[in-house]
Amino acid sequence: MKVVKFGGSSLATGEQVAKVVSIINADAERRVIVTSAPGKRTPTDVKVTDLLIQYAQLTVAHQATEAVVTQILARYQAISDHFDLDHTVMETLTTRLRDLATTAFTDNAHLLAAFKAQGELLNAILLTAILNQQGVPAKFVDPQTVGLLVGGAPNDASVLSATYANLARWQLPVDTRIVFPGFFGYNQAGDICTFARGGSDITGAILSRGLRADLYENFTDVDAIFAVDNRIVAHPTMITKMSYREMRELSYAGFSVFQDEAIIPAIQGQIPVNVKNTNNPTAPGTLIVPEQFLFNPANPITGIACSDRFSALYLHRYLLNKEVGFTLKLLEIFQKYGLSYEHMPSGIDDLTIIFDQSKLDATTIHSLCRDIRTTLHPDYLEWIDDYAIIMVVGEGIAHTIDTMGKIIDSLTQNNIAIHMINQGASRISIMIGTQRKDAPAAVRHIYDTFFVKSEV
Ligand code: ASP
Repeated sequence: MKVVKFGGSSLATGEQVAKVVSIINADAERRVIVTSAPGKRTPTDVKVTDLLIQYAQLTVAHQATEAVVTQILARYQAISDHFDLDHTVMETLTTRLRDLATTAFTDNAHLLAAFKAQGELLNAILLTAILNQQGVPAKFVDPQTVGLLVGGAPNDASVLSATYANLARWQLPVDTRIVFPGFFGYNQAGDICTFARGGSDITGAILSRGLRADLYENFTDVDAIFAVDNRIVAHPTMITKMSYREMRELSYAGFSVFQDEAIIPAIQGQIPVNVKNTNNPTAPGTLIVPEQFLFNPANPITGIACSDRFSALYLHRYLLNKEVGFTLKLLEIFQKYGLSYEHMPSGIDDLTIIFDQSKLDATTIHSLCRDIRTTLHPDYLEWIDDYAIIMVVGEGIAHTIDTMGKIIDSLTQNNIAIHMINQGASRISIMIGTQRKDAPAAVRHIYDTFFVKSEV
């Protein structure tokens, strides 16, 4: 049995939904279908989820909502028209959407979550009607009826483990496809709560684990995951197979196919994930599997990611390695500021602490550095604002001895200064810190060293 999730661009228009219907129809194992809300049709278009956020904000502010409601309904109407659906379907969607404005919610955060969730919910109702009309028996299932329970913040929820026990009890029908809205679950009080943005992927992963699927197919609009960002290297190699932890490391450092926590439930259930293209469904896509199924001796590297969302604090102090408690005091200062750090590579007398820039502002940085100076008396302290991290990732790194050397050579031969280099504790990634301006060239040179040379 396969759980199949379709992204926003796959469900954005009637033409796209027609492709989705044939993909579902082509394989009887595609028994659980997870929807996203209609996404962008053109680069300047607005996603239905963003329109719903506007609708929620206007409702809270007691302002006129008619224009945005009309805009949202038009998106579903266009899909419905493409299939010439019975008008009762759009009537159901219209009533549900309009009723939101007069429903009582626990608070405004829950109101926002409930409004946002309608994007996937209405799309699931619509897709169910379309499948049935096209002769593919289908049934809409609300996450509440099967016990998809979540906790945490109403708009950044996480799944509760009770969900898996609930899903294990669910008897899936044999001849009917299940259409399940992505992106949200219910808390113990029965309120709708959504995952973080992009969270329909999480729903697919949860269902795959809970229903013990053989495969989690994730349909998007690219043929496969590229080994490197195609804005940096033209026509890069496609990754046909990668491990879960390679995917995690690459998405952390900037690969944008999944939000970095999205497939964790699939990993926990050891369910293989196949990223595929709705516009080219017969292409094999990228298969993401547990580590033990993988090792490609031809190339130790699977992918190279790069992110410039970092800042770094560099500290130098003679005999740091002999000093007891230095790092502890430093961490206590971070704790005082409620700051988590990303990485902390160290040398004998040196320590670099790398932060996610979005968690810091100028005032915090200023007082943080002042506190460190007065408490720890470093010989040298520097705040580096333009820090980029390049992550070279591959299961093969743990099995080869010259990967690090080749990376260093490719950068030094091209006059790129390395601020930091660190082989990750997982032994499958090498992290390189450079100045932001050097990062794209660095990625290109590393790519050319391990893959077919890129066109410039
Ligand atoms: N529709 C939601 C969003 O735009 C969730 C998703 O597409 O996965 O974030």
